Order: sequence, then structure tokens, then C-alpha cells
Amino acid sequence: MNENVVDLVGLLRSEVEALMGELGEPAYRGRQLFHWVQARRTRDVNAMSSLPRGVRAVLVEHVGVSRPEVSRVQRSLDGTRKYLFRLEDGEEIESVLIPDDGRLTTCISTQAGCPLACRFCLTGLMGLRRNLRAAEIVGQILALQERLEQGERITNIVLMGMGEPLLNFTQVERALRILSDEQGAHFSPRRITLSTVGHIPGIQKLAASDLGINLAVSLNATTDAVRDEIMPINRRWPIAELLGACRAYPLPNRRWLTFEYVMLDGVNDSREDAKRLVGLLHGIRCKINLIPFNTAPDLPDRASPRERVEVFQRVLHDAGLTATIRESRGWDISAACGMLRVEKENA
Ligand code: SF4
Repeated sequence: MNENVVDLVGLLRSEVEALMGELGEPAYRGRQLFHWVQARRTRDVNAMSSLPRGVRAVLVEHVGVSRPEVSRVQRSLDGTRKYLFRLEDGEEIESVLIPDDGRLTTCISTQAGCPLACRFCLTGLMGLRRNLRAAEIVGQILALQERLEQGERITNIVLMGMGEPLLNFTQVERALRILSDEQGAHFSPRRITLSTVGHIPGIQKLAASDLGINLAVSLNATTDAVRDEIMPINRRWPIAELLGACRAYPLPNRRWLTFEYVMLDGVNDSREDAKRLVGLLHGIRCKINLIPFNTAPDLPDRASPRERVEVFQRVLHDAGLTATIRESRGWDISAACGMLRVEKENA
């Protein structure tokens, strides 16, 4: 898109209204324009028929409606689809659509690559290329909506793709406000989950905001020694501080925090780990997702045997905690958790 034009996809409704105000148009024209872009997903300003012809003629000169370009689609045997998007500067990111039990969850990226180098994650091997703009975060959803099959509707959004969302807080917050706007795609914040590896200032900012989305924390260890090893961010913000921030997180009624726990053979999967986890999570309204690890040639760990995962789950259950074993989706197309990596070197 020409860099002299304003990309409407990354603008809040109030900003679109202000933009129309500058053209001498009333606020409701801004609402209409926002609706065309975000709800009807119209890219051609001239096709926005509820706007006066003269306004459209001016807008065409000054605004654009961007979309990340889909450069590859892979479909898993279990119905999961992975989309590789090419951004305007040539960077690439991935998003995943996961149909499950009447729901259609989309997992989107917030950074191209990631600087945090978790040991079990392929994205971490890429390093950070750059943060995504709000328009690129929203654009993933708009582009996926355009590719849905008959009768499909995206029901849930998880920010769990490439990158640590809280390292890109400003753009992520903006994108979520756009996506949940009632004049736009109108996703309920209750159906949006942000997953973090434990960036505490970001958790605190989220806690202080009025976004109202769900929070998931990727914990994966019960001692700092292990967590330091597998998640370098722990050296900056260790487990006690992280759980302190979780305890302080304001949870609306009937909402829960989620802790994710990737099961790594001989690393974090012992009965003692399970018992320690019970102690650590005491007093936090939460549920735990036990995630079978997806092995990959470039990653050093192995998956815990299924029986050990089940023993781990039983210890949590016996202590009154809700713990589910998440079935790995899209494994055959590397769309599962921690498996998103753009293979630039092979492209
Ligand atoms: S798990 Fe998340 S935070 Fe860690 S390296 Fe992967 S993308 Fe980054």
C-alpha cells in the first residue's frame, strides 16, 4: 500500500470518525466507514455505497485498506489449517484455524519471530524480526474470515501464534479494541485469550486496562532452576513474581486464568513437579492445560510418555484442580503449539 495513505484497518472507530470529521463529515459517516472495513471487509472504497460519492472520491486519495497476502495454506488431517502470510516488507508470519467441537478458534501472531528463545519453541529459533502493527494483527483475522468455508464462523481468538503479545502491548491492545468493537467484527472479549510467557509489566498493564479478555500463562516448570533453563525470561521474572502478578490479576466472576504446561520428558513431568504445581497455584482461580510436546529435529526435548502425563493430571485432579490434556492439533503440518516457524532459509 502506498505509504502516503492512511491504512484504515489499524484505526480505532473513534479515529475513523475523527478522520471523517476532518473531511467535514459527521461522526456517523465514520461509523459507516469503520463498519465497511471491519465488519463487511470491503477493501474498495468505491464499493462503500452508503457513503456519498463525493466523500468516496476524496477518501480514495487518502486511505487504503490493507490485507496480509496469503502465500501458503496447509491443511492437517484433523481439519486444522495453517496460513503463511507475507507482509508488505516481505516478513512472514503464520496463523492457524482450528475447528473443534462446534468452535472455530484462530491462533494469530503478534510479532514476526520472537526474541524470547523458549527451548521448546521453533519460533524462538527465528529471533525477533519485528513487532506487528495493529493493522497486521487485525488483518490476519480479516484475511482468514475471507477464506472460511461454507457455514464457518470464527468463534474464538487466541494470541498464541508467533511472538510474545505483551512485548507488543500498544499494537496488540489497539488490535483487540478494533476486533471487539460492536460496529466492527464484534468479537466478545470473553472469547479472546492472550497467552504470555510471563512478561510481568505487560500483565500489570493488561490488569489495569478495561479490555476484559482472558489471560493464559505459559508456565511449564515448577522450579526456577528448570524454568530458567527452558524459558530464559524466567531469569528476569522468576516464578514467585509471575504468580504474584497472576494473583493480583482482577478476574471477573466465573472467569479463570489458564496455565499452560508443556510436558517435557524428564524435565518438568515428575509426580513431584505435579505436587509442587498444586502448591504454587494454591488460591488462584485457574485451570491447567497440559500440552503434549511436539518434537522437532531442531528442538532438544522429547515428549513425556502419555502415562506420565496422565499421572501428572491425576495428581492435579486429586488436589481439586481442573486440568485437561490438550490434544495436539495440526501436528502433521507443524501448526501445533510451539511449531510455528517461517523457514525463510528454505524459501
Ligand atoms: S513460546 Fe512464545 S515467547 Fe517463547 S519463544 Fe515461542 S513464541 Fe516466543
